[in-house]
Amino acid sequence: MVKGHIEMFKKSLLFQMIMVQFTIDKGDFEGFLRKVIEKYDLIGPVEGDKSKLRRKSLFRKIVSPDELFLEKKTYFPVKGYFFDPKETLFEFDGDKIIDPKIELKKKVFFGLRRCDLNGIMHQDMVFLDENEDPFYKARRDASFLIGLHCNEGDDYCFCNSVELKDFFDLMFYDKGKEYAVEVGTKKGEEFIKKFSGVFKKKDKIITEEDRKIRNKKKLDTLDIKDNYDDDSWKKGSDLCVGCGACTLLCPNCHCFTIEDEVNFDLKTGKRVRKPASCQLRHFTRVAGDHVFRNEKLARFKHRIYHQIQYFKDRHEEVFCTGCGRCIEGCPARIDWVKIINEMK
Ligand code: SF4
Ligand code: SF4
Repeated sequence: MVKGHIEMFKKSLLFQMIMVQFTIDKGDFEGFLRKVIEKYDLIGPVEGDKSKLRRKSLFRKIVSPDELFLEKKTYFPVKGYFFDPKETLFEFDGDKIIDPKIELKKKVFFGLRRCDLNGIMHQDMVFLDENEDPFYKARRDASFLIGLHCNEGDDYCFCNSVELKDFFDLMFYDKGKEYAVEVGTKKGEEFIKKFSGVFKKKDKIITEEDRKIRNKKKLDTLDIKDNYDDDSWKKGSDLCVGCGACTLLCPNCHCFTIEDEVNFDLKTGKRVRKPASCQLRHFTRVAGDHVFRNEKLARFKHRIYHQIQYFKDRHEEVFCTGCGRCIEGCPARIDWVKIINEMK
């Protein structure tokens, strides 16, 4: 069981400050963001644009506050900012190992939804608590997380079914003419002090009603341990084309593969880490061409069991954050929540 990060987070002085609340007028919001942009890289959600390569909403560096798209969660998750799609772990020249330099500008993320934030919390459990990864740590140390609470879910998400935690430096709640802001960490408290001109302290401004999220979709049970042999899983795996879009879009999935790229001199090269997907047949292929999960059914079930059961067995947290991105983005329109709900 590894739960150091979340335990530390809960016990910290900062976590106890979660009740500290502020407001910021919407009239001051744009000016506040402009000041943030002067000091940091601001990363926020932007709408998809069919005329450009990015056809779906995603997180991107914001140059002007009017670029922000705050209507709903993004189609793509934010995880690309914490993992390089081709991370050079080290270079080598004969016996000599050359470590890469990790230098990052501080980034403020704005508009993260609870599903995104809990995804980051789960990555922290794996890449900070379980085995500290210097690349991930450097990016997390340089990041400041501002959430935006969803009042309404979309057609795909079911976050109320998966026990999400409060995990943020600051959380914004839209209250019409103003945002209410909740402080989650010491970093959050210090950030508020830096911009004290625009934030007004107002205790108990956030009501239980403000904290609610109205989901259209529901996962009826998180207990699937006795359903492994249920034939209903085939409703999903028979349609699955093994593209891996579900794991790419998932804010939690973080599996990777490591390759050595050797130059023609057979002396120099580098070791790189790239994302991988449990939905691809070769993911469990080993020497002798043995494939541990050779059947699509086994791969499909593995993904769902990891999301709902295996991670929880190890870390006491449900991995899935209920964002529904894997359902929205699946080319075969496989709805695994519906499959579970319909199991007898
Ligand atoms: S996105 Fe859909 S079709 Fe593609 S691997 Fe995942 S479940 Fe299968
Ligand atoms: S498994 Fe699907 S619904 Fe759950 S967090 Fe991943 S993408 Fe979202």
